Amino acid sequence: MNTRNLRFRSNRVRDIMSLFHEELDGLYGSGEVGVYVDMLFEAFLGWDKVRLLTSKEQTIDQSDLLRFHWALEDLKHYRPIQHIIGHTDFCGCRIEVGPDVLIPRPETEELVNSLISSPSLHEEGSKILDLCTGSGCIDIALKKAFPQAEVIAVDISENALAIARRNAAINDTEITFLQADVLSETFHFPLSTFHLIISNPPYVRECERAQMQRNVLDFDPALALFVPDDDPLRFYHAIAAIAKKHLAKDGLMVTEINESLADEVCTLFREQGFSPTVHTDFRGKNRWVTAN
Ligand code: GLN
Repeated sequence: MNTRNLRFRSNRVRDIMSLFHEELDGLYGSGEVGVYVDMLFEAFLGWDKVRLLTSKEQTIDQSDLLRFHWALEDLKHYRPIQHIIGHTDFCGCRIEVGPDVLIPRPETEELVNSLISSPSLHEEGSKILDLCTGSGCIDIALKKAFPQAEVIAVDISENALAIARRNAAINDTEITFLQADVLSETFHFPLSTFHLIISNPPYVRECERAQMQRNVLDFDPALALFVPDDDPLRFYHAIAAIAKKHLAKDGLMVTEINESLADEVCTLFREQGFSPTVHTDFRGKNRWVTAN
């Protein structure tokens, strides 16, 4: 591309920021665009917020300007900022993301944070099982919080597991990753008992597609999101069956849920012999269930 065609008025930081706001505020709102601009300067130039605020009259190289140009184009097409910069933060861990994994959500971060103070998982010999791990964010954050725990994480997707393995390495955490379909009848861990079985499985019903944002529909993997309308609890059946066999007596099962299906998930867990409790997230929505 001929860089003279870029619409930035100049290479000055102030002009770059203005164009982002002019072109994107209508799509995302000015506050959100400000956050994206901060993230891009951090990712492309290593500038923190203070440096950015005090450098508005500075100019940047043409090659860097081109990166801002493409980021602006991507954002106009609803590409998530996390895909543009390639990573996100989850409970203080750097998590690489891409089209093969769900971008970690703040609600999931809240769920994991609620577990991090648990004294029992600090005990020697603790074992944690994460089903449908995706980017590995949950198990990596838990391993960081409970370094002596043995952590096993499962996903059906080899591509997701490749990212999860890389994320475990970036965060210096030792986790055993297994490729398996938790819905398969043959899924089992011989002789293993876990103190925590956790999962953020696919739970969005196909009928809910219409209410979803384009940045989710176009960029998050459908495999990690959707379940059929006529069998929306399929993963919870499988997780309960696995927990029945592999949850320690004093262990805890934790699953993220579809906010509209809390009662159904609890009924299912009760039928399987568990005592479930629903927890709400920071938006006040039913977001996860703990059961023992
Ligand atoms: N909460 C996620 C979303 O709305 C979905 C996560 C999931 O299906 N596990 O986009």
